[in-house]
Amino acid sequence: MNENVIMLRYGELYLKGNNRSFFENLLIKNIKKALNSFVFSIKKISGRYVIYDFDSINLNLIIDKLKNIFGLVSVSPAYEFQTNIDEIKSKCRFLAKTLNGSFRITTKRADKKFPIKSDEFSASIGEIVLSENPNLVVDLHNPETIITIEIRENGCSYISTKNIQCCGGMPVGSAGNGLLMLSGGIDSPVAGYMMAKRGLKLYAIHFHSFPYTSIQAKDKVIKLKNILENFAGDIKLIVVPFTKIQEAIHINCYEEYMITIMRRIMLRIAEKIAQKFHCSTIITGESLGQVASQTVESITVTNNVVEQLPVLRPLIGFDKVEIMKIAEQIGTYETSILPYEDCCTVFLPKNPIIKPTIKKAIIEEEKFNYEYLIEEAINNIEIVE
Ligand code: ATP
Ligand code: MG
Repeated sequence: MNENVIMLRYGELYLKGNNRSFFENLLIKNIKKALNSFVFSIKKISGRYVIYDFDSINLNLIIDKLKNIFGLVSVSPAYEFQTNIDEIKSKCRFLAKTLNGSFRITTKRADKKFPIKSDEFSASIGEIVLSENPNLVVDLHNPETIITIEIRENGCSYISTKNIQCCGGMPVGSAGNGLLMLSGGIDSPVAGYMMAKRGLKLYAIHFHSFPYTSIQAKDKVIKLKNILENFAGDIKLIVVPFTKIQEAIHINCYEEYMITIMRRIMLRIAEKIAQKFHCSTIITGESLGQVASQTVESITVTNNVVEQLPVLRPLIGFDKVEIMKIAEQIGTYETSILPYEDCCTVFLPKNPIIKPTIKKAIIEEEKFNYEYLIEEAINNIEIVE
């Protein structure tokens, strides 16, 4: 009669109007994909999903996966049964014996046909729990355990004692595709995480300057992509050979402008690759003022080469310590700090310009045939699935 299930809650806010079923179907698709190594079934009830038919040994593993799925707000292991006041009471009496310390009852009466108002019902169940286990105390504000009773429109009730927070956000893919410029540093994986959280399905582009940068530097980026996939689902990584371009910049351009030109060429390539893979935006890990290439003037000059797509910079207003904290939370930090050179550090000028101008950047670029080199690099991309 009783069934152990997992109840999933998602952000109602985004699910209004005609788009509602689009979001819901995408979220369910992402859930099925993330749990594809488990046996289970999933059902949609109004405003919730419920997972059934899983092996209880896998409960915690399944919940760990669910925690990382964007669009889910919280999950609870729960008992499901046909709504019936006596059954609710008996379940709560049973739970009372398993609890210690303080508790509160929260009733969510989605089914307005249920005859007793939520607060009134919570109070009466609270009394039953207390009489069953007099060692417990009621604490409405900061209880150790919240017994949640959800009375849903499908005729079933769900009782749970744990509410596990998930990442929130929007289902991956609901905002289309975005191309993440992924270095091996701390910032860009965090930027990717944040935009996947807002619903972008990620593609990643990495510029690699072998042999100036090592094979390990590339492996590190693949590892970062793999960690991001825990949240963002499959990510296609496009590795662009950047050596010849960097050599050409080094030989031809005024030292102060080397990084500016390098970043302008990276963005030109990123835009072309984005279009090739149907990405409607480019994402970077830039943060205002962090380095010379991230001043407003530098961003103006680099952004200027992108013709069609918006460049999203989710970390623009973040301090480095704030970015590092998120990197730790999502598990990319340890990999990001591995000491392999990024192509940005190859031939690094001592004093990169802090306030470049578009006019001077164009003068530097006219010194070599960068268009040919861009085409050649794009023809030699490597795709890591
Ligand atoms: P990160 O920690 O992400 O490497 P950073 O603080 O080192 O960032 P920069 O090196 O100036 O900053 O790079 C700014 C942004 O440009 C990065 O966040 C990333 O989005 C992109 N970028 C830099 N190097 C590369 C690269 N080799 N391949 C792809 N994108 C890159
Ligand atoms: Mg970097």
